[in-house]
Amino acid sequence: MGTATDHAQLLNTWLKSTHIGGPQVMLTAPAPSTDVDIQRFLEREGFVGDALNRARTILEAAGLTRPGKRRISQTKLDRARDVLRTQLIRVCHRKSCRDVEDPRERVFVPTASCELCGGSPNRRAGDLARQAMLAAGYHRLLVQTGVELAGVESDMEWFALVGPLERLGHG
Ligand SMILES: [Zn+2]
Repeated sequence: MGTATDHAQLLNTWLKSTHIGGPQVMLTAPAPSTDVDIQRFLEREGFVGDALNRARTILEAAGLTRPGKRRISQTKLDRARDVLRTQLIRVCHRKSCRDVEDPRERVFVPTASCELCGGSPNRRAGDLARQAMLAAGYHRLLVQTGVELAGVESDMEWFALVGPLERLGHG
């Protein structure tokens, strides 16, 4: 006793004696597949069109998949997101987005997938305004009621766009 063969024989004898058979004794049955489709994954991450192909090449270069492979293990997705996030930036055609200074490689996507404006020119304008104000040493924003701000619906929206500057309220 003690060898693998002995154990296998013992198991066989036990199976015969108990008349148990079929899939219910498949103790080492593989876990249900948790693979996901690579293309679907990349699209959900905002990579579409040429950007999708580029993202896929990046994953292949990082050893996370191989050319021709269609599916990727769920356990690799976090790593894949990290690789993509550190190497690529998704920008849209808007000048303020595509001209961004960023060491990462730019891939072009529709505005809705743009990680800078997310399809909202106001959001990007707000980001740039905040950066410009902070760079110039301004930390407070006073919005004067009644001033027309192109595309901005209300003072409150403008406050939301400019984010964590100190707000002094309405003028
Ligand atoms: Zn954009």
